Amino acid sequence: MSETRDRLAIIGWPVGHSRSPLIHNHWLAAAGRAPNYVAHPIDPNDDFRAALEGMAAEGFIGANVTIPHKEAAFAAMDEVSVAAQSLGAVNTISFKQGRFMGANTDGDGFLLGLETAMDQAVSAAGWRGRPALVLGAGGAARAIIAALGRAGIGDIRLTNRTRKKAEALTALADNVSVGDWGARQQLAEGCGLLVNTTSLGMTGQPPLDGVSAMLASLGDGALVADIVYAPLETDLLRAARAARHHAVDGLGMLLNQAALSFEIWFGARPEIDATLRAALIADIEKG
Ligand code: NAP
Repeated sequence: MSETRDRLAIIGWPVGHSRSPLIHNHWLAAAGRAPNYVAHPIDPNDDFRAALEGMAAEGFIGANVTIPHKEAAFAAMDEVSVAAQSLGAVNTISFKQGRFMGANTDGDGFLLGLETAMDQAVSAAGWRGRPALVLGAGGAARAIIAALGRAGIGDIRLTNRTRKKAEALTALADNVSVGDWGARQQLAEGCGLLVNTTSLGMTGQPPLDGVSAMLASLGDGALVADIVYAPLETDLLRAARAARHHAVDGLGMLLNQAALSFEIWFGARPEIDATLRAALIADIEKG
């Protein structure tokens, strides 16, 4: 029965808010498969490996992992990808003949989101050859910094309200330097990429301040990415467009990390089409 075979899940606690079922069931249906992707809560007090073994016995073939389980998932794997190894965190699991293989698509999903949003003008401006400034040092920042390192960015500048947390991330890539949160404008000088990975600007959170000064310091035609996706059009992105930079919204990372997970399970990258994007935006706007 299709309902009990080839099942997939997003594992978290709580996990009811996740948009992953919407995204993956869209792709499963488009591929002519049963939309068997569900939200699967696992209590942080439970034995994570035992919970995965239970899922494998119930017909699950893979899962995504979200807060607070990415590190527990890493510890429970039989094998992990290079990206997962560098982060000590797993967001994608494949269940293969009793073995659990872990990957982490968050950072590459972010990069892919940048690349697919990019136009000729940005390629010509060569953001990869210029410094990058990352705001924030939480879980999402870790994946993004490691990915920028893999992408060969030679000068990665990092700043966070709590400076110590940023300093703890410098080993994730070569050429990462940390500056004070109050020095954002100076740190932005000449950058070809600015990424907001803090929760500032998110619905219900305080705004990110100092935006105009940072945008004015960036190099011409820089990429400005905000991984906050509720709201989708943040004040940072609106101001970036007005300052003639190139704005990349938070759906880029959300959809592309999912597409890379789907590719790990099924061997083909699914299309991020307008219908999916519209369905996701409607869901986000619903709150
Ligand atoms: P996290 O681990 O909790 O990190 C939160 C970050 O925001 C920390 O750097 C924190 O600084 C900073 N921050 C919070 N309040 C602040 C304030 N008042 N002033 C200055 N900095 C503040 O969260 P996360 O998992 O990395 O997620 C961060 C954001 O990214 C969330 O909005 C999340 O929804 C979004 N996200 C998007 C995607 C996507 O696919 N688009 C994926 C993951 C996350 P301190 O260290 O000083 O506390």
